[in-house]
Order: sequence, then C-alpha cells, then structure tokens
Amino acid sequence: MNCPSCGAPLHLEPEQDHCLCGYCGGVYYPEQNEEGVRVFGEAASGACPLCAVPLMHAAIGGARILYCGRCRGMLIPMEIFGGLTDELRAQLGSRGLIPRPPDARELDRHIACPQCGEGMDAHRYGGPGNIVIDSCEKCHVNWLDPGELMRVARTPDHWIPAESDPG
Ligand SMILES: [Zn+2]
Ligand SMILES: [Zn+2]
Ligand SMILES: [Zn+2]
Repeated sequence: MNCPSCGAPLHLEPEQDHCLCGYCGGVYYPEQNEEGVRVFGEAASGACPLCAVPLMHAAIGGARILYCGRCRGMLIPMEIFGGLTDELRAQLGSRGLIPRPPDARELDRHIACPQCGEGMDAHRYGGPGNIVIDSCEKCHVNWLDPGELMRVARTPDHWIPAESDPG
C-alpha cells in the first residue's frame, strides 16, 4: 500500500482503522465496500478457513478484523463482537429480514482456526440472526461466514428464536 498523496509506503497501525503515511503524515481510510468493510491491501498471517487464501487486514465500524476478499468471511475478535453488532444494528436498523432456520450442517462442520490452526467450536449464536458461528477460545476470535454479520445486524429485535440451545 502506498500513500495516495505522496506515494510513500503506508503503515498500518495496530488497532487503528486507518493507515498513516510516515512521510507526509497523511491519514488514509480505504473505501468501504457494501458491507461496510474497509479492506487494507495487506495480508495477515492466517488464511481463510474456507478458501485458504490469505486473510486481509480490514476494519468495520472502526474496529479491526481479518477479512477474506474471496468469500467475504470475517474473523472478528470476541472482545469487539458484541459492541460491533450493536453498532451495526443501530446504523443499519432492522430491515425486516426474516431469519432463515439455522443450518444444522454448519454445526457439524469443523474448520481450523486461522490463527492457531486448532479446530474451532461451532455453536449457535445466542443473539439475533439465527446463525452458527465458529469460535476459538484460545485466540478469542469468532469466524463469521459470508453474510452472517449482516444477518445479525438486520434481524428485527422482536424476533425470538424458535428453539434455544443451551450449549
Ligand atoms: Zn504520504
Ligand atoms: Zn474465504
Ligand atoms: Zn485459535
């Protein structure tokens, strides 16, 4: 990545949702895509558990995540997940999306954590959206399949899951 103003290499600061140019001091925010994700042109160390291409550093709602440019899956730190979904729900408002039933096959799927390589734990997410998320307790990250974050963000508040899963 190079500075759009002066062409010098940009530095991606940890935890920040923008890049800094060490030469001219410019601040650079990548364009948001239609999911509100700003993708930095810099690969992270882990690969996408679904397509095996390197995950890219990215930001959403001001928080840093890892993003697969091919399938649009996301690796989101657990610490920011709750705040992020609240913020997106406030931003987007519910669009009357009717959640589809959870896909039981997703609970049986086993993917490896992009950060430590160990198997992730597939479980139903207790919040809105009726989704199955994969998490790694060791790395404190959640993997969201393509479109799942938007399902959480856009499901109406008053919608209550038909069945609850204690695990
Ligand atoms: Zn510059
Ligand atoms: Zn992918
Ligand atoms: Zn892990």
